[in-house]
Parts: sequence; structure tokens; C-alpha cells
Amino acid sequence: MNDNCIFCKIIGKEIPSTTLYEDDDFCIIMDISPASKGHAILLVKEHVPNIFELDAELASKALVVVSKVAKAMKEELKCDGLNILQNNGEAAGQTVFHLHIHLIPRYKDDQVNI
Ligand code: 5GP
Ligand code: ZN
Repeated sequence: MNDNCIFCKIIGKEIPSTTLYEDDDFCIIMDISPASKGHAILLVKEHVPNIFELDAELASKALVVVSKVAKAMKEELKCDGLNILQNNGEAAGQTVFHLHIHLIPRYKDDQVNI
């Protein structure tokens, strides 16, 4: 837990969010500023800033969860595609320095720029 981290506050339920999924290691919430309908983000519950500091076991668990939720999103949202995006460092566009993975549903001709 990092006192200055918005995602730690969301994980700790100090700040409300819409939660799609939760287990011991991760939660998946709806992005507050969605790039497309259904844009969600997987948060690692532990305060890990970026992939450079993520241990391999947690990384592999995260991919299992992402793949399951991606399939559920496709079924539920009837999207035509889905981008999985993960930014590390300001230079790469990271704005919240608590590791997260974007799941961005895509729809034919949706004009989303990511
Ligand atoms: P990044 O640019 O770091 O990869 O992505 C950060 C994401 O977190 C952005 O898509 C942004 O909209 C989202 N975000 C920032 N603050 C909040 C918040 O308070 N609640 C939720 N649900 N999403 C947030
Ligand atoms: Zn944090």
C-alpha cells in the first residue's frame, strides 16, 4: 500500500470504483476515462510500480486472468476485437505508477486511438 497512490486507494476501497473481477492478487475495474465501451484495467493488488519490478509468478498469473476476462468481455460486449495495453514509465505513456493492464474492447470502425 502506497499512501499517495490512487490505485492503492481503489484497491483498499477508500475510493469507489466499478469492480468486474477480484481475487487475492488482482482486481479489474472499469477505467474512469474509457477509450472504448467496456474499457477495463487489471490492477495488481500489491503496489508494484511497473513491469520492471513485477515478479515472474505474478506476471504469469496476471496473464491467465487477462485471458479469461478477455474471453468473457468478448462474449458479454460482443466486441469485434480487444487491445491489451500495458504502459511502463512516463516515456511510454504511464500516468498512474501502479502496475495495471488495460483491456480495451474494439468495435469495427470505432476510430479509437490508443
Ligand atoms: P496509464 O496511462 O497509466 O497506462 O493508465 C492509467 C489509466 O487509469 C487511465 O486510462 C485513466 O483513465 C485511469 N484512471 C486514472 N485514475 C482513475 C481512477 O480514479 N479510477 C479509475 N477507475 N480509473 C482511473
Ligand atoms: Zn499503488
